[in-house]
Amino acid sequence: PDRSLSPTTPHDSAACLLCVAVSTPAHSGVGEPLSYASPRPLPAGTLVRVPLGAREVLGVVWDAPAELAALPPGMVPRTVAGVLEGVAPLDAAWRRLVSFAARYYQRAVGEVALAALPPQLRDLTPEQLARRLRRPAPPAHPSEAVAKTIALTAEQASATAQIDAERGPFLLFGSTGSGKTEVYLHCVQRALAGHPAAQALVMVPEINLTPQLEARFRERFAPLYGEAAVVSMHSGMTPAQRLKSWLAAHTGAARIVLGTRMAVFASLPGLALVVVDEEHDASYKQQEGARYSARDLALWRGREQGAKVILGSATPSLESWHASTPASEGGPGRYLRLHMPSRIGSGDGAGTGELPRVRLVDMGQQPRSSGAGGVFSPPLLAAITERVQRGEQCLVLLNRRGFAPVLHCHDCSWKSDCPHCSAHQVFHKSDRTLRCHHCGFTQRVPRACPSCGNPDILPLGRGTEQLEEQLAALLRNVITPDRRAARVARIDADTTRAKGALEEQLAQVHSGEVDVLVGTQMVAKGHDFRRITLVAAVQPDGALFSSDFRAPERMFALLMQAAGRAGRDARYVAAQGSPPEMWIQTWHPDHAVYAALRRHDYPAFAARQLAERQEAGMPPFAYQALVRADARTQEAAQAFLQAASDAARAAGLPGLDQVFLFPPVPLAIQRVANVERAQMLLESPQRGALQRFLAAWQPLLHAERPRHRGLVRWLVDVDPQAI
Ligand code: ADP
Ligand code: ZN
Ligand code: ZN
Repeated sequence: PDRSLSPTTPHDSAACLLCVAVSTPAHSGVGEPLSYASPRPLPAGTLVRVPLGAREVLGVVWDAPAELAALPPGMVPRTVAGVLEGVAPLDAAWRRLVSFAARYYQRAVGEVALAALPPQLRDLTPEQLARRLRRPAPPAHPSEAVAKTIALTAEQASATAQIDAERGPFLLFGSTGSGKTEVYLHCVQRALAGHPAAQALVMVPEINLTPQLEARFRERFAPLYGEAAVVSMHSGMTPAQRLKSWLAAHTGAARIVLGTRMAVFASLPGLALVVVDEEHDASYKQQEGARYSARDLALWRGREQGAKVILGSATPSLESWHASTPASEGGPGRYLRLHMPSRIGSGDGAGTGELPRVRLVDMGQQPRSSGAGGVFSPPLLAAITERVQRGEQCLVLLNRRGFAPVLHCHDCSWKSDCPHCSAHQVFHKSDRTLRCHHCGFTQRVPRACPSCGNPDILPLGRGTEQLEEQLAALLRNVITPDRRAARVARIDADTTRAKGALEEQLAQVHSGEVDVLVGTQMVAKGHDFRRITLVAAVQPDGALFSSDFRAPERMFALLMQAAGRAGRDARYVAAQGSPPEMWIQTWHPDHAVYAALRRHDYPAFAARQLAERQEAGMPPFAYQALVRADARTQEAAQAFLQAASDAARAAGLPGLDQVFLFPPVPLAIQRVANVERAQMLLESPQRGALQRFLAAWQPLLHAERPRHRGLVRWLVDVDPQAI
């Protein structure tokens, strides 16, 4: 059938009127579901194909608002083109989640609903659907008794007992290697056993970086419920895989869904448990479209659907830490905090062992240039050399990829600025290019300074590529116990672009082909490296003085996580006789952040940060939203924001007395790909007041838009993660 010629039969009085959520173009101003006619009534949640403009699109029959019957005179609704027979309607809990998310994050219901559904659904014929829904049958006699279980440690047993007994939500605060994953496995098993329709959702920040987690869930649950009962959901999947997982979750065939932030919107009619692992991770916040926080939505969904929610982290977000501070300590006590301080096997040499000792190198006391380039202080270099000579592995962390952040001419001060952004182009030595990390603009490195012709243009600052090169040179003559030269390798976004490249490079580390691994934060996350005994952060100071108030929190989490990569195998550490170490090179060794890190003392760090935030009236003691405007000129961007702000005041919007509107300012990186960017911060001590204000403001923002010709787009970011 030709779908572009969708029937637009005139409205006949016998037909029913339906409200259908469809994905309308962003900022069309069409916020609510649209009206369609249908020859027969369809329950809310039914998946349908409907005409929209010249296209036929997927839609969801939505709960009809009261005023739907009164269609404006002369308006004739178009008719639903088809129903996806065989797919059960999306349940009320799912629709409530979508409605809430749309309302809270200031987007259209249809946009949120349709972004949560696999696009391939639209084109499924009933036959294809029937075929898809046939899947391997679960094991004939799923015996929950044969479940492989590990004897829990006392800390794990106490945590699981509380999760069993209380309603939650829970914040599982456990060191890296304390056995949090084992607690999740245990709780999932408890939630599913004896409840044939129960489902669990386990969310992780980036699934590609945690293949081990998926393997553990599969190993534990496939024997119980069949291979098909464990499915993944993440953006790296093909559309066909995504459809398959979605249908499995929707029909209940999938008992366990492992996924990234998008999985929070999965249709899970039997949801009984939600786990949000590494709950502090910034990747739970969607950064385009509806800018939702999957962690926050998980909490909301769990409460609505009566599912328990476990947030887990060794370095919780300050929001969650605050929310889990008990009333007895003056906190709100909204979450129940469960503490697992000990690493598995510490003491008996059979697990991940002790946390590494943190050593600070005071860069102010080091010779100004130690050898080639001078990134590595002599004591750190000596420590790395020693480890490599003993056959152990080291991890060196730097948060900037490329060779150097900028090329520079000492004669005329020319810098390799991106012509399209207010940022430098980063020098990548391996392919002799200058690349902008914001817009992607790439050029060949010029032979001489484009401004004055000086042939000696030099790299300024350091990236991972340079670190790798320098370290390889410094370790040139170092020999490993198996009598080969030391090998340095790098893992970052540049080396892992190709599919499978990351896995391949990690395999080389695991097999011991690599002695020193240089990388960005990518390598600090989750990997179970067995032979790494030393981790070093060579230049972490920048985060201490960032304009983003969350920078220290993120840095602390990253360094704690990186520290967790060292000494993961207590037997190996014991056999080698070399205790794990975390080295930090800093110009500010007395900084409180490092003092807390040195003692692995997250609570002390959090207490201090929270006190500062409270003093300054910042989250979690205040609620924020950003309105951002992109325009041809900075003036146009700011003018839109100013006009929107003025309009809000003139209209005397509700909540205004409790919402503070800051003046418009340029973003830290003001221009990207020739677009000027400005933002305006809104802050309120009351979440409800901010929400009321934003809802009332939305129509004024839409109305303001056509008056600003240079404006490219605007957006609202509720609970922004980066200011
Ligand atoms: P986390 O998720 O907190 O980093 P894991 O659950 O991965 O910790 O546990 C760390 C290591 O200890 C893993 O190798 C895991 O198999 C092992 N482990 C966890 N719990 C136990 C236990 N109760 N007994 C023995 N080993 C355990
Ligand atoms: Zn650029
Ligand atoms: Zn020059």
